Amino acid sequence: MGEDRREGTAPTADLLLVNERLLLADLRERELAEDARRLAAALEHRALHDALTDLPNRMLFTDRLEQALVDARREGATVALLFLDLDRFKAVNDRLGHQAGDLLLRQVAAHLRGALREADTLARLYGDEFAVLLPGDDANAAAGAARALLRALAAPCLLQGQPEYVEASIGIAVYPAHGADAAALLRQADAAMYLAKRTRGGYAVAGFGEGQRHPHPAGTGPDSGTAAVAGPTSAGGAPVAPVGAELRAVNERLLLAGLREQELADQLRHQLAFTGAIVGNLGEGVCALDRAGRISFANPAAERLLGRAEAALLERRWDEVVYGGRVDDCPPLAAIRAGATMHADDDRFARPDGGSFAAAYTAAPIVAADAVVGAAVVFRDITERRRAEAERAALTARVEAALAFRTRFLSITAHELRSPLTALKGYAQLLLRQARDGGDDRLLRSLARIDAQAGRMARLIDDLAEAPRIESDGLTLDAHPLALRALLEETVAEVGATAPEFALRVRVEGGAAAAVWVRADRARLQQVLTNLLTNAVKYSGARREVAITLRQDGARALVAVADHGIGIPAAQQAAVFEPYVRAANATAGNYGGLGLGLFISKAIVDRHEGTLTLVSEEGRGSTFTLALPLLAAAGEAPGR
Ligand code: ADP
Repeated sequence: MGEDRREGTAPTADLLLVNERLLLADLRERELAEDARRLAAALEHRALHDALTDLPNRMLFTDRLEQALVDARREGATVALLFLDLDRFKAVNDRLGHQAGDLLLRQVAAHLRGALREADTLARLYGDEFAVLLPGDDANAAAGAARALLRALAAPCLLQGQPEYVEASIGIAVYPAHGADAAALLRQADAAMYLAKRTRGGYAVAGFGEGQRHPHPAGTGPDSGTAAVAGPTSAGGAPVAPVGAELRAVNERLLLAGLREQELADQLRHQLAFTGAIVGNLGEGVCALDRAGRISFANPAAERLLGRAEAALLERRWDEVVYGGRVDDCPPLAAIRAGATMHADDDRFARPDGGSFAAAYTAAPIVAADAVVGAAVVFRDITERRRAEAERAALTARVEAALAFRTRFLSITAHELRSPLTALKGYAQLLLRQARDGGDDRLLRSLARIDAQAGRMARLIDDLAEAPRIESDGLTLDAHPLALRALLEETVAEVGATAPEFALRVRVEGGAAAAVWVRADRARLQQVLTNLLTNAVKYSGARREVAITLRQDGARALVAVADHGIGIPAAQQAAVFEPYVRAANATAGNYGGLGLGLFISKAIVDRHEGTLTLVSEEGRGSTFTLALPLLAAAGEAPGR
């Protein structure tokens, strides 16, 4: 029966059953397989990725690097490798605990990943160290990526709701420039990162200490054959403008000189930032000296000026290079000993060809961690400057000799002219007296004219002798309280006697006090007044009216001499106070004169702390106004 049933129903049921079983088995098997695959994948992933950030780990990174190098070798392409290390991450860990540290690392990983291309590999090697593989990138592109990474880190991470800022240092190595295999490249990138960290420069390209030449990142200047520290990182983590190639080179040399500690490097960075502007100046030679005065760096200008390649300068004592022997007290060595900046304006540096050049320089101590670790010497060739100075000195000497000769010549001439003139004047006055007695009017007038002309000639001679002396030494005064009105009236009378047709007289305006006291050198002040009055008479032309007024204006006494004569062209009004300057209309009109009177008058008035001003219009006349401080205003009573 059972068979029947089996025959009748079993095949289908069994079939179904088997089918079901098979399906189930298959399903389970597939599930199992899937599980196994998942497990395998998870295991593989775990083996190749970092558990904390899920980024590729060192193993996977190295593998991808090897593969990228194989490809690059075959295609003649480049591969860039970046080493990134967080600055002071340990401090965050200590401060906030490991959990917060882990959280921070995860956020950092996300920020970094976001700054990279799909094809780039970002790996966490261990701790706070990351690496980036940039297939096909050269140093320029890698520097660009480094900047992008630093920028990405400028965004804050959030820890317990508080913003936390992290900074990083990045080292860059590029295949094939910095190494042929993965191990060499990793070493180079690590060393460059170390340099960036020491200089807090943000990022650095490998090559220092290897003497390798390599292209620099865009905008970081010419190849110095050394490490390039570009874009020092600002407080917020964003790179600021890169410093000059020279500065970077000094940076590196000084680092190599043994300044490995973080604090030392920090101080050095400040020092270098400070001297960066000088170092970057291409025309000047820059040498860094170590504590013993040995050259540890020389820029191209220093090589050129000293006539030696850097290799021939390094490790040699500064004094032996520039003086050819020991000079223990030379300024750069003194700067190192004293820790003070030294200048020298008048030195000579030797060249290997036996020649030398005039040099000026500054030697500044390099201080790190409160100790002088060397000096930076910035120098230049001042041969040209010296030559120009010598030429100028020779020229000045010649001009001075000519001026001295002129002064001597004029004073001898004046002296020689004065004696016969005095005699002439004496005889004229004697004859005048006799003629008065004889009542001969014509003779009297002729003699008066001789006397006046002799007087005028004497004044010209005095001016001639005096002007050069005033120009070189100024004036000395013998000043006393003086009644200005009396002096003015006396002078007007004297000048009036030689020009009776002018009927000169003084008008006292605005209730000026009877005397009007000033402190003055009588003879000098009279010289000024005589000059103004004789000029007014001389340049009056046909209109024989000269107005002389005396008045007080606040704390000043004013004497104005106004004529209606030829006037002074506007363009020459300032110049007539210069020595030997005469206005065009004075020379054209054949009015005699030397052009010295106003120059001397102005010098005298200046020494009295007064002013001499001019208002004039050509063809209409001139008004000269002399202003002097009143004695009372100066706090002095008359008669002292
Ligand atoms: P000078 O011996 O030539 O008169 P000054 O130094 O006294 O020398 O004057 C300089 C120049 O100023 C004169 O040559 C003349 O051109 C001009 N000057 C001075 N005073 C007068 C005036 N009152 N009227 C017109 N020109 C004058």
